[in-house]
Amino acid sequence: MKILVVGSGGREHALAWAIAKSPRIQTVYVAPGNGGTALDERLQNIAITDPAALADFVEQEHVALTVVGPEGPLAAGIVNVFRARGLKIFGPTKEAAQLESSKDFAKAFMQRHAIPTAEYQTFSDVAAAHDYIASKGAPIVIKADGLAAGKGVVVAMTLEEAHSAVDMMLSDNKLGDAGARVVIEEFLAGEEASFIVMVDGKNILPLATSQDHKRLQDNDQGPNTGGMGAYSPAPIVTPALHARVMREIIIPTVQGMAKDGIPFSGFLYAGLMIDAEGNPKTLEFNCRMGDPETQPIMARLKTDLLTVFEHAVTGTLDKIELEWDRRTALGVVMAAHGYPEEPRKGDLITDIPAETADCVTFHAGTTLNGEKLTTSGGRVLCVVGLGDSVKVAQKHAYDAADLIHFAGSQMRRDIGWRALKR
Ligand code: AMP
Repeated sequence: MKILVVGSGGREHALAWAIAKSPRIQTVYVAPGNGGTALDERLQNIAITDPAALADFVEQEHVALTVVGPEGPLAAGIVNVFRARGLKIFGPTKEAAQLESSKDFAKAFMQRHAIPTAEYQTFSDVAAAHDYIASKGAPIVIKADGLAAGKGVVVAMTLEEAHSAVDMMLSDNKLGDAGARVVIEEFLAGEEASFIVMVDGKNILPLATSQDHKRLQDNDQGPNTGGMGAYSPAPIVTPALHARVMREIIIPTVQGMAKDGIPFSGFLYAGLMIDAEGNPKTLEFNCRMGDPETQPIMARLKTDLLTVFEHAVTGTLDKIELEWDRRTALGVVMAAHGYPEEPRKGDLITDIPAETADCVTFHAGTTLNGEKLTTSGGRVLCVVGLGDSVKVAQKHAYDAADLIHFAGSQMRRDIGWRALKR
């Protein structure tokens, strides 16, 4: 069987790697892929990104099923294009992807369906936004309505930061159309967790829990990034909390979308804030898996992922159960010099250790030129260690990461600290 994975990051490398383990796989195409997917002989990169051209490729090559990694193509309607041509694809339609592509849509949806989230208002008028901030005080959170590649959220600890975030988005148009409307919401304190499920329009299949590390530096200091590391499972999500998140957030979301006439299929990712009393609220929805959460999650998946996707595109996710490696998987991101502001490209990468039973390296911003592997993006690699405890998984990940060389590489040394502190 031939499968197509759309995307080029570490998430897509991990998905393609997991799918390729299936004994029924002939080829996993990755569009456009990266240096790591180029190096793996079970995977094949194809240099196509346009949805209609991808659909042509899928028809010509008799690709059985397509899985979409990133939000961009989903928000642009790749699922609509494929479905209109009768092609099997796992992901939400453009309309359903609004849960991620419009923060205002997501907030109004949550309010309508009584899903716990921060109090908010949406503005396109600058003066009204400033007045609202003045009336609410700081800390307060300013979010661009549209997709802004991780740059659209300002957690303002002071009134000054909040006002300047509004000016940046609404007056100076720094984020373009994405920032033409802003959601201003209540600041929530607590610990974050990533809660990711697969949905086939109706049935819900939860994946293993995970936790990301957004800040660039140790002790959660420095600027926000796409994510500097993640581990699975996340001990903060106890069985009781898991049941509560399903009951209060995930099930009402899936049922609410169906009721509103835009049934959701695809990965549904709820970014949660869990307060000191253990109450969960939804910070955001993503309509895709997280990166880097996918890498440790896929490293633990024992069930044949191809079979899982077949159930997902035929509306039978209720007929399958997932089996997980009982060990912890912990992924450490190695980022390029200058990331996140100005990542440098073109540094030579050497000494990536071969995959073992307790370590695997997924590529993100890498390119293979002949024999040479070089950096080509902000987050370069994610090195995943597996172990019977968080500590052992962490050691395996860092032992491997410390062998890898590229000039100017940056990584946090404390991935997993919250789980270790428990
Ligand atoms: P989002 O893209 O909405 O998840 O926001 C990105 C990050 O900003 C989150 O992972 C949180 O760390 C932080 N954040 C978002 N909304 C809030 C909020 N209401 N209170 C506190 N932090 C937030």
